[in-house]
Amino acid sequence: MPAVTTVRTVADLRSHVAKWRKEGERVALVPTMGALHAGHLSLVTLARGKADRVVVSIFINPIQFGPREDFNTYPRQEASDLDKLAKAGGDLVFVPDGAEMYPEGFSTRVKVFDLTDDLCGAARPNHFEGVATVVTKLLLQAGPDLAVFGEKDYQQLLVVRRLVRDLNIPVEIVGAPIVREEDGLALSSRNVYLSPAERKTAPLLYRTISEVAANLAKGEGADAAALAGRFKLEAAGFRIDYVAVRDPETLKPLSGPVKPGTRVLAAAYLGKTRLIDNVAVSAKA
Ligand code: AMP
Repeated sequence: MPAVTTVRTVADLRSHVAKWRKEGERVALVPTMGALHAGHLSLVTLARGKADRVVVSIFINPIQFGPREDFNTYPRQEASDLDKLAKAGGDLVFVPDGAEMYPEGFSTRVKVFDLTDDLCGAARPNHFEGVATVVTKLLLQAGPDLAVFGEKDYQQLLVVRRLVRDLNIPVEIVGAPIVREEDGLALSSRNVYLSPAERKTAPLLYRTISEVAANLAKGEGADAAALAGRFKLEAAGFRIDYVAVRDPETLKPLSGPVKPGTRVLAAAYLGKTRLIDNVAVSAKA
């Protein structure tokens, strides 16, 4: 397996992409923070199917972490990430360091209002500003035709769609379905933080929001269904940030009836580990 080409500067990234573009090739970008798992690799596969060239970025973005969050302990495993990307068919990996992304004097932020007020935005002040800023930079640095983001971070996907629209960035944003373990737990780089006992409890998050979605499809009211889900998770030892039933486009509380597509979203801690997940209400339940 030949090693995947790695670049660490914006100039090198641009020269690769410019060459492909000149040859009329379609370029996809998959932004990640590394510690790659099958969820990330599914994004690469999806990108492969829609573009001639796939660029994956690996950058643990310091400005999207709060002061008491896990920036320092976030898993870093560049060598095995590069192996995985070679096998998954990535063409180029962009691995900038902190100074390349945020040189001395960096003083700009991109802030998406409204969509970020609530849910993870309420629990993690400045998080989405950090995400919006780094995603804007990556899109401008790589200049891809399309970029792929997972529905695992559903609010993030909507924030990215909004900033691209609002700032007229010429890129198509593609959402990718959530990849799960066999027991339902959504794959996440943070799952390695879970103790064996917490790992056993963790799949209950997905089971519970799926149950909430099924109850909504049967006609139960949004508040009652969400509250029942919250109680169930609390009883199992989760510390809840939110269990919410929201409009899939605006993330506002529902103003009308539950519809297929209505989203059930949750964030909860098991010990020190914050897990997030979401499901859509389906037409039949
Ligand atoms: P991260 O490295 O956690 O920033 O994630 C990079 C990208 O992978 C984001 O677009 C995530 O939404 C996506 N992603 C993370 N976990 C999963 C998963 N289990 N299934 C699908 N996409 C995922």
